[in-house]
Amino acid sequence: MTFRTLPQPVFKIPAPNTLCKETYRVNESRDHFDRAISLIRKLAYGDMCVTDYDTVEKSIFSGAITFYSTDSKMVRKAVLKSLTPSQVITLLQQVHYIDWLWFTDTKKEWFSDLISIKAMASLLDSEGLRVIRDDVFDGTEQNMLRYMMFDCSNIPDITRINAMITTDTMRTVCFPNGIPVNHLLRVVRKLSNAECGPEIFKLVADTMQFNIACGDVTADAMEDLLWKNVTNIPEYYRLALIKAIYPDPFVPKTECWTKLIFDHGQLCNTWNEDGDADPSTGEDIPDTPFCDDCAQEAPDNNDQPSCHCKDRFHLGICSWLMQKGVPIPASLWEQVAYYNLYHFAYFLHVERPKSYSLDIRQSALLKCIQFDRLAFAKFLVQFQYFSKAEFTAYSVHLPGDGQYTPSDEMTAILQLSNKKRRREGVANMQSLVDEWKEQLPGGFHIEICNHLHSMYK
Ligand SMILES: [Zn+2]
Repeated sequence: MTFRTLPQPVFKIPAPNTLCKETYRVNESRDHFDRAISLIRKLAYGDMCVTDYDTVEKSIFSGAITFYSTDSKMVRKAVLKSLTPSQVITLLQQVHYIDWLWFTDTKKEWFSDLISIKAMASLLDSEGLRVIRDDVFDGTEQNMLRYMMFDCSNIPDITRINAMITTDTMRTVCFPNGIPVNHLLRVVRKLSNAECGPEIFKLVADTMQFNIACGDVTADAMEDLLWKNVTNIPEYYRLALIKAIYPDPFVPKTECWTKLIFDHGQLCNTWNEDGDADPSTGEDIPDTPFCDDCAQEAPDNNDQPSCHCKDRFHLGICSWLMQKGVPIPASLWEQVAYYNLYHFAYFLHVERPKSYSLDIRQSALLKCIQFDRLAFAKFLVQFQYFSKAEFTAYSVHLPGDGQYTPSDEMTAILQLSNKKRRREGVANMQSLVDEWKEQLPGGFHIEICNHLHSMYK
């Protein structure tokens, strides 16, 4: 079905000053309301045109659909609800014929009613939809979306968006370049809504992929929006959506790691307000935990417990990022060290592909020593992320004015690595000696063993 545009307007609606508003206040007169509805329905049945109305009918019609905002909405809803999609289109065609400057916005409202959108999507071809975009919505899809996507509030309405993408034709006319960037964040924040079907996720993925592929400033904004809002996407869709946004050879920027794990990039993920400390009276400012739940569960003597909530670390996405070869920035490791997230580090250590380096920099080790994060230090030592020389340098000559001096516990952990390596060396030597035992003079053998034994301690 094609929507027609007319060269000449056919119906001039009476201007409001020629009508007595009191007479046409429909909610004060049930009779009048019913009459207005039946008149408008006749247009939808194709029985008559607006031009066929007599003077009184024209006045009733214009009063009912334009003057009183609540009443006109009531009238519109009552009429549209009672029609088939095909009748809705016939009625919209009639409404479209009306030429009156003051009616322009009212006309947009008729065309952006959910029932109208559904009828247009199911029945109109792309030519008809373009006529509506050009004639009713001033020729821009931005303007059309502004009316169609939002209900009364400024929040995008998922039901409406669903209706706008039910057919490829309607989707192409409404969203030729996906969701406009200025509306995208508000749509993404609605993705956890149960009404969001696969089509909406596809639209969001296409929009992001399109903008990221452009590679300009919008691409950066788009990546920022995506990685800071991953938790708004339902879990079962997260990785699939991200994969769709970055088909090969596209890869996310390295900062995505920090945005993903530390949501909004702020230093403190949660700030525990219930602490006893009152810094305004000179008490120490408490360390901020990464995760309140884990902090509350931790024993009192554990100042900075390591969060082990799997859902906070988006493990599936981390694995994919490592497979894609996206490097982890130094800033992420510093935050991981500050929050003592050894569970997270351990996961990455185990999960990483052979060719992928976790690339933990000295700044993370320094952060660890500065804030005395023992568990993360233990991780670094146990999995040999630093050489003996580096540990020695940091334990002995720490930069600054002494504020980085490691605690005794920290020193013990850092030195442990040296001890472990020394013991390994001694053990190797001992097995060599045992192997050649028969060849060695008795006293000499015992002496060597005693020597090695003292070195092992
Ligand atoms: Zn936790």
